[in-house]
Amino acid sequence: MVDFSKVEKVLRQLEREFDGRVKVDIVERVLYEKDATAIPIETKTPQAVIFPTSKEEVRRIVEVLYNEEIPMIPRGAGSCLTGGAVGYRGDEVVISFEKMNKFRIDLDNATVVAQPGVITYELQRAVEKHGLFYPPDPSSYKFSTIGGNIAENAGGPRCVKYGVTRDYVLGLEGVIKYGETFKFGAPVMKDVAGYDFTKFLVGSEGTLGIITEAILRLIPLPKERRVLLAFFDRLEDVGRAVTKIMTSGVFPSALEFMDRACIKAVNDYKGLGLPEDKVGLLLIEIDGHPIAVQEELVEVENLLKEMGVDVRVARTKEEKDNLWAARRALGPAISKLGSGKVNEDIVVPRSRLAEYIPAVNRLAEKYGLICAIFGHIGDGNLHVNFMFDKSNPEEVQRVERAVEELFKLTIDFGGSITGEHGVGITKKPFLKLQLGDVGIELVRGVKKLFDPLNLFNPGKLVDL
Ligand SMILES: Cc1cc2nc3c(=O)[nH]c(=O)nc-3n(C[C@H](O)[C@H](O)[C@H](O)COP(=O)(O)OP(=O)(O)OC[C@H]3O[C@@H](n4cnc5c(N)ncnc54)[C@H](O)[C@@H]3O)c2cc1C
Repeated sequence: MVDFSKVEKVLRQLEREFDGRVKVDIVERVLYEKDATAIPIETKTPQAVIFPTSKEEVRRIVEVLYNEEIPMIPRGAGSCLTGGAVGYRGDEVVISFEKMNKFRIDLDNATVVAQPGVITYELQRAVEKHGLFYPPDPSSYKFSTIGGNIAENAGGPRCVKYGVTRDYVLGLEGVIKYGETFKFGAPVMKDVAGYDFTKFLVGSEGTLGIITEAILRLIPLPKERRVLLAFFDRLEDVGRAVTKIMTSGVFPSALEFMDRACIKAVNDYKGLGLPEDKVGLLLIEIDGHPIAVQEELVEVENLLKEMGVDVRVARTKEEKDNLWAARRALGPAISKLGSGKVNEDIVVPRSRLAEYIPAVNRLAEKYGLICAIFGHIGDGNLHVNFMFDKSNPEEVQRVERAVEELFKLTIDFGGSITGEHGVGITKKPFLKLQLGDVGIELVRGVKKLFDPLNLFNPGKLVDL
């Protein structure tokens, strides 16, 4: 039973210490009740939202809350798609990192030290001015935060070549149970001192503790990027083309797929005039030195033409930007196909995609659902979207059954139920399907070690 009078007393104490930065008014708190999750889930309004400005302030907040057994939800931009940043119990306090948005670039070590509330795009723009590159590019990069990206191990189109957020995190500082602080890693490429807690904490979804600072790796910024589109008449050819490209010696910086439903949705949304009679398209980006990029572009173009595939090369920057804008607008474009949308971010081994995509379409047909598939086909990570009528409870139930079957199918194909969005609340019931009893036991054991009272983001990822 939640003791709200205790929560109130503790909040009054914190209000005295954090003058004006503890929001308890319902009008302000309610804004932090939800995140971007589209699947209907029950959420609760948090009791307060606190805005720390430093590591020490976060430590103090955790110390007070943990000792009083009050749960907390760390929060970046609230763009999570699996209910990771929502109120779950109703007695939580949200720790918002909106005011911890500073970063420092270290040119000599090609690293950046960032507070958790830094917007990914701001950091990317700043390092690019120095000829450096921070590649992780979730489609939410213009508003999501470094803390949220680390907590979710976010990825995007460029991950096929450059890897995911975890590959760029060299060190982490943070706070765990009772306000104890940790500092793992350093601005170095090699560090084998003990277990790799830095990498382990990436993707922990705010369930083990709070990240207060990160050291991120930067790499040289590619000088040139070119984009081409390939249009397919047969799905089998998409798989064959991906294999051919990936074994051609050219390493694309993005290899994105859209099926016919997506092509139509994006045409309707952006008026691009892409051919709707094709079963799918590949958006291929190549980056690097301008001379190499030009040569590699021609190689890929020829390889595709030899397969009888229609190819369109973006000739101008404007054309390239439009193609990417279309790709990034797919989420909202598809949303117009139904009042409800479930977007599952599954991954399967690339070699199985040619069988997997038709199997998903058959599954959608079996449940009478509109299905749109797009995603990072180069790394086997697809977004399977089932569209439904939110106001029809029978249809909602059908979607739930279809999602469960989708996850089983994905695991049967040797894949994972999530490649990007994390487990949160929405995928928690399915984690055991993938990890098995022993896996879940280990997850619980680790959770207990960092958070014995289950106060960091309770109800997400795993139940204790
Ligand atoms: C339009 C759209 C497109 C998207 N595209 C992608 C995509 O391409 N790839 C992808 O991977 N994801 C994508 N996402 C999902 C989402 O943007 C990412 O998961 C992102 O990393 C979340 O960042 P955030 O700042 O919004 O974090 P939030 O949503 O606020 O939080 C996410 C999780 O991180 C935890 N957290 C936040 N800060 C901290 C911290 N300092 N310490 C510990 N835990 C913390 C929270 O408790 C929560 O569990 C998309 C979302 C939207 C709405």
